[in-house]
Amino acid sequence: MEARLILGDQLNENHSWFTELDNRVLYVMFEMRQETEYVKHHIQKVVAFFAAMRTFARKLEQDGHQVLYYTIDDPNNCHDLKKNIENVVQLLDASTFAYQLPDEYRLDQQLNEICKNLSIPSKAYDTEHFLTTRTELAEFYKSKKALVMEFFYRYMRKKHQYLMVDGQPEGGSWNYDKFNRNTWKGGRIPPPYTPDATLAKEIYPQVTAAGIETIGTFDDNPFLFAVSRDESLKQLDYFCEHLLQDFGTYQDAMHQDETNLFHARISFSLNVKLIDPAEVIEAAIAAYRKSEGSISLSQIEGFVRQILGWREYIRGLYWKEMPAYKQKNELNNFGKLPHFYWTGNTKMNCLKTSIKNSLDNAYAHHIQRLMITGNFALLLQTHPDEVDDWYLGIYADAVEWVQLPNTRGMSQYADGGILATKPYVSSGSYVNKMSNYCANCSYDKKKRTGDDACPFNSLYWNFLDDKREELRSNNRMGMMYNLLGKINPEELAKIKERAYQIMENPDAF
Ligand code: FAD
Ligand code: SF4
Repeated sequence: MEARLILGDQLNENHSWFTELDNRVLYVMFEMRQETEYVKHHIQKVVAFFAAMRTFARKLEQDGHQVLYYTIDDPNNCHDLKKNIENVVQLLDASTFAYQLPDEYRLDQQLNEICKNLSIPSKAYDTEHFLTTRTELAEFYKSKKALVMEFFYRYMRKKHQYLMVDGQPEGGSWNYDKFNRNTWKGGRIPPPYTPDATLAKEIYPQVTAAGIETIGTFDDNPFLFAVSRDESLKQLDYFCEHLLQDFGTYQDAMHQDETNLFHARISFSLNVKLIDPAEVIEAAIAAYRKSEGSISLSQIEGFVRQILGWREYIRGLYWKEMPAYKQKNELNNFGKLPHFYWTGNTKMNCLKTSIKNSLDNAYAHHIQRLMITGNFALLLQTHPDEVDDWYLGIYADAVEWVQLPNTRGMSQYADGGILATKPYVSSGSYVNKMSNYCANCSYDKKKRTGDDACPFNSLYWNFLDDKREELRSNNRMGMMYNLLGKINPEELAKIKERAYQIMENPDAF
């Protein structure tokens, strides 16, 4: 017998493992405390993972494969990968053990270690999901000075011939990012696709009964994660038909009453591999071609860039830089994350809304993650470990390979500029430009000092002042430091006093 392990984020029905039925193969899947406890996860994330795993196991069985599945309450489950594998190997009297290469460094190391000590030979297989290998990005940048995403993205466009005409980018430009920055002024947005939540509702009490400590809520909002391949494909079709036409335009917009705007909400399905990046890109491009102009080139290019560019880039960077990346703290930040990140109890409307969205839905769109919660954590000079743990726990799509570079690199600049050319920090004026949060806030977006001054403003100037040493040599910060230089010393002292009040007790604001 061969025992083949399938991890919770390896639910790729189209993997070559499954092309043939083989009664000498047993697929093994485990719901383990090892995975529910390495960080405190959102309840909807735990439920979504278990529901997707159980649906996948059932599908394999229906197709005639043999599956051994340990639920969270199975008495045979040791809740530890090593012990479960050793027990299964013994139980089956297996002659080989096989697994798919994990995307997380932690599990990769653990499986290497387990296999070294197993009494039988082991084999590792590719997951057959990504458009690049683990090392492709590292090879691509070998002779380049900086890891600028745009160059990798162009390489991927050429390699896969997406949106290319005669060797040139369709429409003449590689990137239509400048058309992706509109604000949302209101109007009708199609509601998000609502997948079948029957299984999720069944699993929820089992997770609570098992005593798994979680964050966030389950009942207050519809459960919007597709947990089967069929539902994931329907969610993708829905996006292509109803949302893609405005995706690029409002990609960076935020709105008080709109949690989803025109975002696809497919990151969970992608990250657990229910759907794969090539089929997502091809479905979106097919919809663009069929749309007779209602989906413009800037919408489709904006979307393709996220999946073909950013997602693959992030994964390659993770494998290039790990394990050192997880320790990086180049801005020397040591603060704590405010308690309100777990409750949403703050008077700052942008944070209250974005955190509440996250607690209610295990989801927030990219700009809320980057320019609200991420921006504020960085302005507070929070230790990146604290920020990582929060992001890794709260979002259903959070798997370390994608969460870590986005958080530690893109949002916290803790890698000193490996991923981003400058820190993504802003004062209240950016938030005001891209959203309607400030119009409904207790604070005055224009003021830097005084009790009702927007906290982002004093924190922003103080951050620049505090981090002169670390950011001095960054050319892209020149304009910001010029503006800082124009603030007179007395005013700057008052701004810093207010910033330090906030940093000492952010929960009071
Ligand atoms: P859309 O906005 O509809 O985008 C479509 C798809 O593009 C996404 O599903 C995703 O697969 C891909 N994509 C877009 N941006 C990125 C990116 N920067 N990195 C990788 N893929 C991208 N994404 C995760 O999948 N898991 C995470 O744990 C995660 N953590 C993040 C933490 C921070 C601080 C930030 C700033 C971003 C993070 N992202 C993460 C990236 C991005 O915010 C999410 O992929 C996106 O919000 C998912 O929602 P969606 O499916 O509606 O995406
Ligand atoms: Fe956020 Fe400041 Fe705007 Fe309030 S005024 S919503 S705190 S940016």
